[in-house]
Amino acid sequence: MKALRFHKARDLRLEEVPAPEKPVGQQVVLKISHCGICGTDLHEYVAGPIILPVEPHPETGAKIPIILGHEFSAVVTTVGPDVTTVRPGDRVAILPHLMKAGDYYARRNIGQFSAATGLVGLTWHWGGMGEYAMVPEQNTVKLPDSVSDEQGACLEPSAVAVNAIDNAGVIAGSTVLITGAGPIGALSALAARAAGAAKVFVYEPNAGRRARLQAFEGLSVFGDSPEDLLAAIAAETDSGVGVDASIECAGHHAALDLCITATKRTGTIAQVGLFVERPQVDMFKLCEKGIRLIGCWGNDITLGNRLVALIASGKFPVEQIITGRVSLADAVGKGFDALTQRGNDHLKILINMGA
Ligand SMILES: [Zn+2]
Repeated sequence: MKALRFHKARDLRLEEVPAPEKPVGQQVVLKISHCGICGTDLHEYVAGPIILPVEPHPETGAKIPIILGHEFSAVVTTVGPDVTTVRPGDRVAILPHLMKAGDYYARRNIGQFSAATGLVGLTWHWGGMGEYAMVPEQNTVKLPDSVSDEQGACLEPSAVAVNAIDNAGVIAGSTVLITGAGPIGALSALAARAAGAAKVFVYEPNAGRRARLQAFEGLSVFGDSPEDLLAAIAAETDSGVGVDASIECAGHHAALDLCITATKRTGTIAQVGLFVERPQVDMFKLCEKGIRLIGCWGNDITLGNRLVALIASGKFPVEQIITGRVSLADAVGKGFDALTQRGNDHLKILINMGA
């Protein structure tokens, strides 16, 4: 089968590799439909290997060259003898965190926090940027006819966004600020709106991305200056106290500082963006305002059916973040290179494996 494999930074190769063999136990073989290119994939492409294993991964044994892709939809082709929840022909999406049997966190269905957990498409033998993949049954999420393959390929980043909204305590009537409108920020804004937030403010310095978010309904989009945003928040929140919750998706100290300023006293900040550099932020102000700051990491694999139901309801139009579609043959030039170009305004590029 054909697969896009990471060898080293700036060296992704479209190669002929063996397809998965007959699945055993609870393994499921999938024919990939669509796969998203994620910021994590881009970090690996530009500066990797970062989390891609150079030596065999302690849990999975996988090592580079690795087939990338952890955001994908697929059709089940064959299942192991112990699989009970999916059958050949079922359409599925995946949530990529592998659960380590017996692990303290895995027993609580938050296996993304296990020290040595593996991830499909990063530290596993298979990923979504190949024609076929094999994954454990529990990482698959069945898709009904009302959820498209493209929406299915957005399930994983959607899980990150909904996990952030949950962590931030967003409820009906909440006022919310999202900083950084990349794919996760855009999905977090859509998720906050779906959760019933009364006001969703978005701050994004990239004018192209801002224009994309302005096309979504029900968001107040800023980015020219923090002052404009803060003035709007003062004018449009109860007694001008600030937003109930902020979702920081930029992974930049200026953005986190803005969240600390914009969030009301006793409000919550969910930190989703990953910092490349250690941030300089006003921690005195964080304490003085009694703000709760919560780190977010990945997503919990039990979110799948809830997300699928939310997407099927029409309240969470995750496909709106798709700004490009490429074939596997074009994935490096028109996908990875386009997304790493400075100032590009893409949100999500999907690889259509059937194209
Ligand atoms: Zn991702």
